[in-house]
Amino acid sequence: MASINSHSEFSFFDDVCQFFDHAAQFTSHDQGLLEQIKACNSVYRFCFPLRRGNKMETIYAWRVEHSHHKSPTKGGIRYSEMVNEDEVMALAALMTYKCAIVNVPFGGAKGGISINTKNYSVSELETITRRYTTELAKKNFIGPGIDVPAPDYGTGEREMSWIADTYLTLNPGQLDALGSVTGKPLSLSGIDGRRTATGRGVAIAVRECVSIEEDMKAIGLTAGLEGKRVIVQGLGNVGYNSAKVLEEFGATIVGICEFDGALYNEGGLDIDAIIEHRKEVGTILGFKGATKEFKNSAEGLEQPCDILVPAALENQITEENVGRIQAMIIAEGANGPTTPAAEKIFTEKGGIIIPDMYCNAGGVTVSYFEWLKNLSHVAFGRMDKRYEETANLNIVNMVEAVTGVTLTSQQRSVIVKGASELELVNSGLEDTMIRSYHEIHKVYKANPKIDTLRTAAFVLAIDKIAVSYQSMGIWP
Ligand code: GLU
Repeated sequence: MASINSHSEFSFFDDVCQFFDHAAQFTSHDQGLLEQIKACNSVYRFCFPLRRGNKMETIYAWRVEHSHHKSPTKGGIRYSEMVNEDEVMALAALMTYKCAIVNVPFGGAKGGISINTKNYSVSELETITRRYTTELAKKNFIGPGIDVPAPDYGTGEREMSWIADTYLTLNPGQLDALGSVTGKPLSLSGIDGRRTATGRGVAIAVRECVSIEEDMKAIGLTAGLEGKRVIVQGLGNVGYNSAKVLEEFGATIVGICEFDGALYNEGGLDIDAIIEHRKEVGTILGFKGATKEFKNSAEGLEQPCDILVPAALENQITEENVGRIQAMIIAEGANGPTTPAAEKIFTEKGGIIIPDMYCNAGGVTVSYFEWLKNLSHVAFGRMDKRYEETANLNIVNMVEAVTGVTLTSQQRSVIVKGASELELVNSGLEDTMIRSYHEIHKVYKANPKIDTLRTAAFVLAIDKIAVSYQSMGIWP
C-alpha cells in the first residue's frame, strides 16, 4: 500500500527544477525572484479514512499550489498508485509554466490521490472524490477564485461532476460555484471540445513544428504532416485524441504502445478498431491489423517512425532507451516523459522535442474557456449566433444579386452558418497553440546558446511570471 513518503530514486520535481535552472541563466532576473518562481508555495498533504466492508483504509492525498502570481491556481487531479508528493509538486510547477506559455491567467496547481482506481467500486470512488473535495474546501484549497481542479491521469468528467456537486453543496447560493472545477460534463456546464482539447492541441503543436521547412530539413524530413509516421504511447484521452487529429492532419499512426504491450504496422493502424478490439478481449494484443506486436511495451517506442508522441506518464524516455528511439521529433503529450539526461542525448543527435509545458497545454487552455463560460453564465455563441447568420445571409443575398452568381445550398450554408460553441473553442485553441509555438520558436532562434525548445519555453514562462511579480510591486 502507498505511504506518504513512498517514492523512487527518480525525482520528477528535481528534473523540472533542473530544466528551470538551465533556462534561468538565459534570463536577467534577480536570484531571489527566480527562487520564488521555482518554489512550490503551498503543499497540502492529507489523509482520510475509507470504510470498506468491515475494514478501514487510509487514503493518502495531496493538493499543491505551486504559484500564486495569478489567481486562481489551476491544474488536474491524478488518481494513481504512483502518485506521491514529489510527483504532485512537479506537475503543479509544470502547470505554472504551462499557463504562462499559453497566456492562461492562472497560477499552477495539481492534486493527487494515491489509489489504483481498478481496485475500487464506482461508489467508493465517489466517496473518495467527495471527501477529497470536502478536505480541500475545509482548508480553502478549492474555489472559482482560489484553486480550480480538472481531470488528469485516472480522472475524467465523472469525477469532475462529483467535485462540482460537492462544492455546490458546501457553498449554497454561490453564483460562480460551477467555476470551481473544469472538465465537467456538458450537462453540468462543461464546455464542448474540452474532452478532445489536449489531444487536438498536441496535434496542432506537431503540425506547427513540422511546418517549418528549415527545421525539418535539418533533421532530414520534409515539411508538412502528410505521410509522416507517428508512434503514440498511451491510448487514454490524450493519446487517443492526438492520434485521431494527427491522422485528420494527414499523418499515419504506425505504432501504439500501451501498458500491456505495443502494436506496429508501417502501413498504418486503425485506432478505433484497436479500441474495439481492447473492449472485446481486454488487451490491445492480438489485434489483427498489426504486422508486429510486442509484449514489452517499451520496445514499441523504438520502432521506425518520424514522430513519437509519449502521452502516458513521466519518465518514459530516459538515458537508457533514448539511444534506441528512431523518431526525430518527440511531442510530449504527457507531462515529463523525457528526463533531462535523455533530452540532452536526443538533442545532440539533432532531434527536436516539443516540450510538455507547451505541447499538452490545449487542455488547460480549454479549461480556461470553460471557467470563463461558468463565470459569465452563458454558452459561447448564444448571444450572437443568430445575429451573425442573419448578417451573413444578407451579404450573400446582396453578392448574388450584384454578381448574378447563384451559390449552391451547401456553399450558402457554409458561408451563412454562425459559429457553434465547439467551433469557437477549437478556433481559440488553434490560435493559442499556433501563436505560442511561434513565440517559443522565436526565443529559441534568437539566442544560439538556447539549446532546446524546452529551454526557450522556460525562458518565456519565467519572463512572463517575473513581469507579474514586478507589476505587483514585489520586485524592483
Ligand atoms: N491535467 C491537465 C494538465 O496537466 C489539465 C489541467 C486543467 O485543465 O486545469 O494540463
